[in-house]
Amino acid sequence: MPFLLFHLIPLAAIFTGVTWTAVILFLVMFWGRMFCITAGYHRYFAHRSYKTSRVFQFLLAFGGAASAQKGPLWWAGNHRMHHRYSDQPQDVHTPKKGFWWSHAGWVLGDDANHQPEGTMKEFTKYPEIRWIDKHDWVAIWGSAIMCLLIGGWSGLVIGFFLSTVCLWHSVFLINSLAHIWGSRRFETTDTSRNNFWLALLTMGEGWHNNHHRYAHLARQGLYWWEIDASYYILRGLAKLHIVWDLKEPKPEWLTDRAVQTVDDLAVPD
Ligand SMILES: [Zn+2]
Ligand SMILES: [Zn+2]
Repeated sequence: MPFLLFHLIPLAAIFTGVTWTAVILFLVMFWGRMFCITAGYHRYFAHRSYKTSRVFQFLLAFGGAASAQKGPLWWAGNHRMHHRYSDQPQDVHTPKKGFWWSHAGWVLGDDANHQPEGTMKEFTKYPEIRWIDKHDWVAIWGSAIMCLLIGGWSGLVIGFFLSTVCLWHSVFLINSLAHIWGSRRFETTDTSRNNFWLALLTMGEGWHNNHHRYAHLARQGLYWWEIDASYYILRGLAKLHIVWDLKEPKPEWLTDRAVQTVDDLAVPD
């Protein structure tokens, strides 16, 4: 119910109007938090595809938590299960259980509260990561209040609530549509696809077949025309020494059509 009601709140824009400040807040909140999910929750916490400082690690976790997609340990732990058991019964959001289940149903079910045990050992040693994982509401309501203070009621309704709903469904599309619609470069053991439009919408996550083949890489668009905004920003942050040791593909991997092996699915140390 709270999930459905959340979707209705942006309708309050009929009463608040849509100010320019609210539009700018929408864009900043959508793309800013999208980066924290794609480069933070996904490529860093779930796949450890680059290294960073403890401070930036926390900022990524905080920004991801502000997206109202639960904490980094829960998100990345479940995502590791998705790679380990892609499209098998243990995969929490396989589209084999139906499109809506893979899109949002699994988040709303009882199983969604379950934190897969022992999947995030490298990060549970950080008390600040455990804290934000447990108290993600601080980031959620903190950013909502910030939108209210900057943009008034319109800022809250459009800048926070509407951007959160759009962010949810954009990220969810990677679990649902990116396993259904698009092309397959690699013969992986799952149903993952590459999709240009989803890649634009999600800052590079639409190259999902590439990603299932080489899950440990910091980049998901493997060619220059495979637009991967998260990777470009990570490259920029690497130049500033905020992140480092980005895992890059070897040239010969691009033409390797081999079927995925169990070793490819392991999270490297
Ligand atoms: Zn997938
Ligand atoms: Zn992944």
